[in-house]
Amino acid sequence: KLEDKLAIVTGSTDGIGKAIAARLAAEGAQVVINGRNREKAERVAADLGHPGRVHAVAADLSGAEGVRGLFAAARKIAPIDILVNNFGIFEPKPFELISDEDWLRFFNLNVLSAVRCSREAMGGMRERGWGRILFISSESGINIPVEMVHYGMTKTALLAVSRGLAKTLAGTGVTVNALLPGPTWTEGVAEFVGRLAQERGIAVEQMKEDFFRSARPGSLIRRFAAPEEVANHAAYLCSPLADATTGAAHRVDGGLVDS
Ligand code: NAD
Repeated sequence: KLEDKLAIVTGSTDGIGKAIAARLAAEGAQVVINGRNREKAERVAADLGHPGRVHAVAADLSGAEGVRGLFAAARKIAPIDILVNNFGIFEPKPFELISDEDWLRFFNLNVLSAVRCSREAMGGMRERGWGRILFISSESGINIPVEMVHYGMTKTALLAVSRGLAKTLAGTGVTVNALLPGPTWTEGVAEFVGRLAQERGIAVEQMKEDFFRSARPGSLIRRFAAPEEVANHAAYLCSPLADATTGAAHRVDGGLVDS
């Protein structure tokens, strides 16, 4: 149970972040819902129920100022006990077309934003002798997708950051872990697959089947995971049950990768 804990989940108005926020709130935590759009963040926070315990803080995490704003607002609620670095973007592009700007943009959005959030959160956690920092990496961080190498690079980088931060916080009561989801049926993915299906003139169900046959033949569940399935594992790592788990990278990828 997570009563008396405050959790920030970045990018939590949709998808995996929203499911993690919902699960942490169900476990009794106070939760900060974050997204770029204020109205949407407020709507999602209200929809989750738990009035008074789920707070909306709109902040654009693409820059240092947005991160500072998010943490300043959260600290007014309570000290931060749990940080889930979930926010991240993806965008398929052939290697030759990934520009210098794309590499830097992906590093900035997917890696630096999580580093900045962790830096904001770690001091207070260390002082209080308990904390959780969880990075949402991806199976794509170890099984680099040829269709988006820049995205894979950021997810590998997060594994290094997570492991290094776990060592930095060794013996403090603050655990730092990474979660590696496989293909998960979120708003972002549904929109992308829907657009592709339309372009190719085929049904979404057919697109899904093709994806597991051609792009991810290693999946042992042969389907997209539900965001809630990823959230279950995230909630466990954020709970006191996982006090002895730190510096770990846990896969929730349907057995996609041999290792
Ligand atoms: P999504 O696109 O469904 O949701 C993204 C969230 O980020 C939304 O809440 C959106 O409002 C927020 N956001 C977008 N730009 C923002 C900004 N500048 N500042 C703050 N918030 C912003 O995403 P998802 O599919 O749920 O993915 C969540 C995380 O999980 C990402 O890090 C992604 O790389 C990772 N992941 C996803 C999958 C998958 O198949 N869906 C697989 C592995 C890893």
